[in-house]
Amino acid sequence: MAEPTRYDLFIVGGGPGGYTAALLGAKKGLRVGLAEGSHLGGTCTNTGCIPAKSYIESINLYTQIQSAQRFGLQAQSSPPGLLTLNRRKTRIVGRLVKGIEYLLNKAGVTVYHGHAELAGKNTVRVADEEIRCTSLIIASGSQPKRPAMFDLPGIWTSEDIFEVTEAPSSLIIIGGGAIGMEMAHVFGNLGTEVTVIEALERVLATEDEDVSRELARLYRKIRFLTSARIQALDASSGFTLTVESPGGTRTVTGQHLLLCIGRQPRIPAGVPELGVSLGTSGSIEVDGFMQTDVPGVYAVGDVTGQHMYAYVAAKEAEIAIDHMTGGSRSMDYSFIPSVVFTSPEVASVGKRLSEMDPSVTRKGTFPVSALGRARTMDACDGFAHVYCTPAGKIERITIMAPHATELISWATLAVSLGLGLEEFLKPHYPHPTLAELLKEAAEDALGLSVHKP
Ligand SMILES: Cc1cc2nc3c(=O)[nH]c(=O)nc-3n(C[C@H](O)[C@H](O)[C@H](O)COP(=O)(O)OP(=O)(O)OC[C@H]3O[C@@H](n4cnc5c(N)ncnc54)[C@H](O)[C@@H]3O)c2cc1C
Repeated sequence: MAEPTRYDLFIVGGGPGGYTAALLGAKKGLRVGLAEGSHLGGTCTNTGCIPAKSYIESINLYTQIQSAQRFGLQAQSSPPGLLTLNRRKTRIVGRLVKGIEYLLNKAGVTVYHGHAELAGKNTVRVADEEIRCTSLIIASGSQPKRPAMFDLPGIWTSEDIFEVTEAPSSLIIIGGGAIGMEMAHVFGNLGTEVTVIEALERVLATEDEDVSRELARLYRKIRFLTSARIQALDASSGFTLTVESPGGTRTVTGQHLLLCIGRQPRIPAGVPELGVSLGTSGSIEVDGFMQTDVPGVYAVGDVTGQHMYAYVAAKEAEIAIDHMTGGSRSMDYSFIPSVVFTSPEVASVGKRLSEMDPSVTRKGTFPVSALGRARTMDACDGFAHVYCTPAGKIERITIMAPHATELISWATLAVSLGLGLEEFLKPHYPHPTLAELLKEAAEDALGLSVHKP
């Protein structure tokens, strides 16, 4: 029998956590192998961030064309067909997957296309091949939650939705979090009659209350049922739900149903036998260096159940590689920005409002409608809030605005560096820009905004 191949580092999963770890490990001189059971790029590239944003960009351009006259133009477009959106997405995804493949190849990472099973802390099996490694990173990601009640054919999750090629006439979306709201944005603008059912008292419940309120107001054509409990589901002809909400019990029907109620970690075979501790949600428990309680075995990304974002997975990969190559950086979850690609976009960073004492927190706010740049873009909905301590240290920034998902990086830098309002306002903010929204909100916290209506 052939000797098993040996690696300094073997990685299970080729998503943002896994492939980032592989590339960084190779840069540090490690001999790296990686197994991917489906497509390189993982959920993010194939069925998550990229497909969703590809659809959203098409939808946003379509809605802009609809308002062309307001820009003095004569452009027209019929609603895009889902098949066209799907083809565009497939091209973009294909290119990105090839890019990841190219980078791994160039870095000298050996990629195994197949499902990996762990046969010990230093032994992995992919198909018939046995592989030995000094360190192991589990980066197997997550999959959509699908409670037994929804385990029926024809119920879509994010794993299926980007393969659908014809928009349904009506769609029930269960879950009004980031993914549910992004999908409501897409299908609502494709002409589908959308109902969003949310168990909590508002959609985007982790964002500021006025963000949820404003979004529900702006998405007039979408029906929102909040504080809603699903009592029964009938899938005999389309989908009929019996839903209890504060307004009483009602029946909700839809041609299709999309489940967006969160994701659960995907644990490779052999992990429990290693003695790695799992948390109550089934996620792999790690310390600040992303190491499990089995030395030399690390876990990064969604499989750890923490902040399920691609950029968090990549940061965790950095920390794991740093630790296994002798570094001492640890993971800090204090300043993870959140991003939602609705229209307008929503983003926030810093402490949760529930962690701040409202009686002492200073708040500055500024409406998008008062920005010159927003007027030129004909995109005037939204606002920014800057929250700070009585001494002026910025603790949280909330943005609901065009390109909020870009502006939040500047806000994240400020909040994570613990900047005070004066420091935040020290640089010049070019005019006319959307970044002035943050400047004006910070000035308002000091009582100095000259443009606030
Ligand atoms: C619709 C949607 C929109 C999203 N939008 C955003 C966004 O805008 N921004 C953002 O940051 N995040 C977004 N996310 C979340 C983001 O996709 C995930 O947080 C990210 O992909 C996690 O990366 P990961 O590497 O941990 O796992 P994954 O990307 O899930 O990758 C894990 C990989 O491991 C492979 N694998 C699993 N088990 C095995 C095994 N035993 N052997 C071999 N391979 C295995 C899987 O096939 C998969 O390719 C979105 C998610 C969804 C569903």
